[in-house]
Amino acid sequence: MKILIVGAGASGVVAAINYKRNHVNDDVLIIEHLDKPLKKLLATGNGRCNLGNANLDVNNYSNASFVKNILKEYNYESFFESISVKTKVIDGLVYPYSESALTVKNALLKEAAHLGVDIKLEEKLLDYKVGEKIEVTTSKSKYLVDRLYIATALKSSPNLGSDGSILSILEKHGYQIKNIYPALCPIEVNENTKLVDGIRNKSNVKIYQNGRVIFDENGEVLFKKNGLSGIVIFNASRVIASANKKVDKIVLDLLPNITQNEIENFCKLHSVNGFLQGFFNPKLGEYLRNRFTSDNRLIAAVKKLEFSFQDFYDFEFSQISVGGLNIDELKPSLESKKENGVFFIGEVLDIDGPCGGYNLTWAFASALYSTK
Ligand SMILES: Cc1cc2nc3c(=O)[nH]c(=O)nc-3n(C[C@H](O)[C@H](O)[C@H](O)COP(=O)(O)OP(=O)(O)OC[C@H]3O[C@@H](n4cnc5c(N)ncnc54)[C@H](O)[C@@H]3O)c2cc1C
Repeated sequence: MKILIVGAGASGVVAAINYKRNHVNDDVLIIEHLDKPLKKLLATGNGRCNLGNANLDVNNYSNASFVKNILKEYNYESFFESISVKTKVIDGLVYPYSESALTVKNALLKEAAHLGVDIKLEEKLLDYKVGEKIEVTTSKSKYLVDRLYIATALKSSPNLGSDGSILSILEKHGYQIKNIYPALCPIEVNENTKLVDGIRNKSNVKIYQNGRVIFDENGEVLFKKNGLSGIVIFNASRVIASANKKVDKIVLDLLPNITQNEIENFCKLHSVNGFLQGFFNPKLGEYLRNRFTSDNRLIAAVKKLEFSFQDFYDFEFSQISVGGLNIDELKPSLESKKENGVFFIGEVLDIDGPCGGYNLTWAFASALYSTK
């Protein structure tokens, strides 16, 4: 058998390793259009590679019931130990012991080379045709293979490889693609936030849709000159994307650990300006003062500061893409229902999770599951 995997990213390389381990006599080739494999992996977790989550809750994924079945069999420790990568848990997040993504990249490539996986760089998938065998056309060659794995991801961080070039191919093959949005990224808001650019504040963030709370999480918000960022906002962006951008408002509680009563009592004793001085970064205090001339409105707004969503930052600034290949197109094995021998793994599918190792977990687990 000949197997061709498109994309030497997180899912593609792990799929190659596992397929080769399970079918030693088959030929496994990866084509990658960049000049290096695993470029995105090196950037993950700020270079530390948050490769899993010790308290992973499957319900946090989109299409959770589909994911559940696949994650049931996945154990990050056993896979990473098998390539001699020791892991450790910091605040629930799983990292390589070295806290270096380079450790993971090197170990994956060493194992792939040891098993005889061939990786061809600077070669792009152009199209494929499914017949008795699958004829794959790339920018450099044609291949006849028995199985094709699409492991290209979608459109996020195109400088790290996922440039969306797979989408026109999938559309041509008649696949249903769910709307694709950048996610785990900063967002632009309609309000002017220039004054607080660069200021951080530990907040509670809620998102409302048709009057209902669809997101509620605490974390550090980083104000940008035209919007909001920080991990809590990254997670919020994913929820806004899943809601097709149709959200009423984003509401920040700037003092989640202080009650409205405590605020009012402090103001009585120290005045509103004293309160702003006592609790906030001076720039944020100035922003609040400028935005609300009335003291009463300002005091109320501190725990209910409203923003309206304008748009996401570009794909360039996003860690993942929400949407993608509709999972109804797949058998539970991740093989296409309509094209025999064509498999889809990783982020190209309409499956995504929040920050904290969820997306690499999906990439690795789907790769292992589809190559048993
Ligand atoms: C900056 C950043 C930080 C992140 N941090 C984390 C983290 O700490 N934890 C976490 O869980 N997730 C993190 N993520 C998300 C995670 O990296 C992705 O979800 C994951 O890499 C997806 O794996 P994949 O194999 O589907 O795609 P990728 O890893 O993107 O690999 C796809 C590969 O396919 C190649 N390719 C694309 N199209 C073609 C084509 N037509 N022909 C040939 N090759 C092609 C690309 O060049 C790329 O190498 C982060 C993402 C970014 C951008």
